[in-house]
Parts: sequence; structure tokens; C-alpha cells
Amino acid sequence: MSIRIHNQEFSPFLDEAKILIEVKNLGQRITKDFEGEELLVIGVLNGASIFMADLCRAIDLPLSTSFIKVKSYVGTESSGKIRSILGLEEDIAGKNILIVEDIVDTGITMKYLISEISNLNPAKISIATLLFKPEAFQFNYALDYVGFEIPNKFVVGYGLDYDGLGRNLPSIYQLSVSQLII
Ligand code: 5GP
Repeated sequence: MSIRIHNQEFSPFLDEAKILIEVKNLGQRITKDFEGEELLVIGVLNGASIFMADLCRAIDLPLSTSFIKVKSYVGTESSGKIRSILGLEEDIAGKNILIVEDIVDTGITMKYLISEISNLNPAKISIATLLFKPEAFQFNYALDYVGFEIPNKFVVGYGLDYDGLGRNLPSIYQLSVSQLII
């Protein structure tokens, strides 16, 4: 059944059961790939919080967790957006890092995170994203764990919002019309 958020109509896209099966699969793959090792799982707020909670519980490894936020603001210079990472306080040198995102769209945010986190000398950086929009992706770096490849349309639910609302929806919905400007 369609839902309305802020006067926009969204149609069902991925239901809760399907999402949870895929999250379990990702967890099992990660468990296998890092057998005998420890992980520091870093979730990117706000969108990844729900995926992160389910994914961590599907990983059977000794792991610790942390959350970061990417702050972007328009600078005074012509370079446009300036970004900074908030919340990364622990020493990550020599650790296996798994960055957890809700969605990789153009890939700009993840590219920035990879380069900033690499500077802190971790042993390895891997990436898990629940959703990936290949048509919008502007780079060619590897995404290690992708839940679903989706068309280039705006989605909400399971942590993803539309103007602040919709993160608590257990399923994912897609914008019914494509004129939304965000
Ligand atoms: P990127 O830097 O890859 O273009 O964008 C990443 C961020 O844009 C995501 O973390 C998310 O906050 C936002 N985003 C991109 N596509 C969508 C979408 O379809 N729905 C929602 N709710 N956010 C999106």
C-alpha cells in the first residue's frame, strides 16, 4: 500500500522480510571473510543506524562499534561543499574497519570517508551499504558488501528519511513520481 510523507506519495519497494534476509546474508559473508579477526564497525549517522543495528547482530565476530556523522556545509571559497567527520574519537590504527552506510548514491560521501579514514592508518577498510544506485555512482572504487542495487529513484524507510520523516518505517518505499527535488 502506498504511503504519504510531507504530501509526497511513496510506493512499496523492498519489504521488511526481504531486507532482513539480505542483512543476514551480508552478516554471514562478513563473518566468513573476517574469520579469526576483530572488526571495528563504523556507522554513518543518521541513515545507517537501523541497518547498522541489524547488521551487527548478524555478524558473529568479536566487534566494537562506533558512529560518525559527515557534516557538510557550503564554504566561502569556490570549492563548494566542505566536509568534516564528527565523532571519530578512538584510535583506529591497525584495526579492521567496516564502514556502514544506508545508501551509496553518487559515491561522494563514501569517497570522502575512505580517504579521511585511510589517513588514520587502519589495517583494512571495507564498506557495507544496504542500497547502491549504480546509475548515479561517479567513481569506480569497490563496494565490498552491497545489499541491493536499486534504480536512481528516491527511497525512504529502514533508516532513510524524506525531510526528517520515514526512518522508522520497517520497509523501504520508493517515490511514486520522479519530480522530487532534494
Ligand atoms: P552520495 O554522497 O553517495 O551521493 O550520497 C549519500 C547520501 O545521500 C546518503 O547517505 C543519503 O543520506 C543521501 N541519499 C542519497 N540517495 C538517497 C535516497 O534515495 N533516499 C534518501 N533518503 N537519502 C538518499
